[in-house]
Amino acid sequence: MTYATPISDGKESIEFDNRFVRELPQDPETANTRRQVLGACYSRVNPTQVSSPKLVAYSREVAALVGFSKAFCESEAFTRVFAGNLLMPGMEPYAACYGGHQFGNWAGQLGDGRAINLGEIVNQHAQRWVLQLKGAGPTPYSRTADGLAVLRSSIREFLCSEAMFHLGVPTTRALSLVLTGEDVERDMFYDGHPKLEPGAVVCRVSPSFTRFGNFEIFASRGEIKVLKQLADYTIRTDFPHLGEPSQKVYVKWFEEICRRTADMILHWMRVGFVHGVMNTDNLSILGLTIDYGPYGWLEDYTPGWTPNTTDAGTKRYCFGNQPQIAQWNLVKLANALYPIIGTAAPLQAAVDFFGHYYQKGFQTMMADKLGLTAFVPGINERLVKELLEILSLVETDMTIFFRRLALLDTQGRQADDMELTAARAVLMDAYYAPEKITNGYWERFNAWLETYILRIKKDNLQPEKRREKMDAVNPKYVLRNYLAQLSIDKAEQGDFSMIRDLQDLFRHPYDEQPDKEKFAEKRPDWARSKPGCSMLSCSS
Ligand code: AMP
Ligand code: MG
Repeated sequence: MTYATPISDGKESIEFDNRFVRELPQDPETANTRRQVLGACYSRVNPTQVSSPKLVAYSREVAALVGFSKAFCESEAFTRVFAGNLLMPGMEPYAACYGGHQFGNWAGQLGDGRAINLGEIVNQHAQRWVLQLKGAGPTPYSRTADGLAVLRSSIREFLCSEAMFHLGVPTTRALSLVLTGEDVERDMFYDGHPKLEPGAVVCRVSPSFTRFGNFEIFASRGEIKVLKQLADYTIRTDFPHLGEPSQKVYVKWFEEICRRTADMILHWMRVGFVHGVMNTDNLSILGLTIDYGPYGWLEDYTPGWTPNTTDAGTKRYCFGNQPQIAQWNLVKLANALYPIIGTAAPLQAAVDFFGHYYQKGFQTMMADKLGLTAFVPGINERLVKELLEILSLVETDMTIFFRRLALLDTQGRQADDMELTAARAVLMDAYYAPEKITNGYWERFNAWLETYILRIKKDNLQPEKRREKMDAVNPKYVLRNYLAQLSIDKAEQGDFSMIRDLQDLFRHPYDEQPDKEKFAEKRPDWARSKPGCSMLSCSS
């Protein structure tokens, strides 16, 4: 490993403050061999050198967050650092130890198998940011895998993290995407057809990458002292407003994790995001969306849809299950924290609270999506429930439907036939197969539309005001699965232009961008069952 002296363009200096490695117990073994790591939160490990790194893209917003200049981001040193070939002074690379419940079963030690944390930067706003490479080679936690990542999954993680941020969804961020110049073998659909694919490294950035599974591993091994150390560390570092750790503060902390997790899921449900692998090792203790693997975006509204082929059998992680699965994961976290709290009742109460909080949040969110001034219990439950049923009856694009709903002209005094026909014409673009829609469907839809229009009229909001409110929560652009795949297909041919186009597009996902209208279109028919567009695997 080469240690750099010039760390930037020479005009700035970046200081690292590596609190995680400083304050938490370290694995005494330093050789990079795969093993069970006991009694420690992390193992020291350096990234693997790669042959010819090439910068594909970086996020100027994330660079600004961590205090990197444009000149540094566009320098050779930057590419070398974020490929894993060079360490900046002050970086202290390590991989964290964690476990997890995968698809409902305890999986034992997992850990950062292909993630290497480089160091922590405290920016001028006193915000702490951990820099983490994904795909920079094996670590003690790599088990039987190679520690690498391929270009297609790295593009998906890079673009989606930043799109989610601009959509207002809590998420880890992505600083850079670098090609390693080396091939990586992957069997994309686990069907005995491995292929060589270009290798890549993404640098992710987050206040912390700690997952539910970081706590579970110590509880499962009865390592209560380390469990407490990590809990205290997390509270002091990421939840300082809760005060000094104590039994009472642990409970308040768990309540806040429940609330943050619910907020994150509400955002996913609002924008139509399906994570795809909600194992407890993929749930952030900060309530951030983390680990972009076989995720997907709802195109036609289908609550039972999962993008993950590994999950196709039981659909455990389908769109509609996400709230319950989050709660299930919180129960696992509660069990892991129990040894340091010693009483179950407040943990159970917090898990129950998640349910109520989510339900209330869902009502408010749906009222916002529908442009209602408030959610009226009793009346709006029916309106929302009926709409969600109707949306799943025929292939209806969720994003286009809600965006178009804001355009309804409800100026007439009643919801008469003319008004209903006009409203339907506005919404027509949301349907994938309008010719297949039956009269029965239209009757049911008309009845809903009439109730909705009357409800809107009662609110008496200026149409422009209503549209503005609705457009602020119903994105015009989401990272449709086929868009990500098109940018991957081009990148694999050496053309990175679409990655930049999508980066630009997703800086303003709620704004009309007339020159980018094509990115708001429904999924084309060719993408209906194309791998990468409708089906994804964990192979990445
Ligand atoms: P995931 O399902 O991607 O969240 O990964 C589950 C576990 O497998 C984590 O501990 C990952 O670090 C590890 N893992 C996934 N892919 C690889 C890989 N290519 N090399 C090493 N470890 C991996
Ligand atoms: Mg993971």
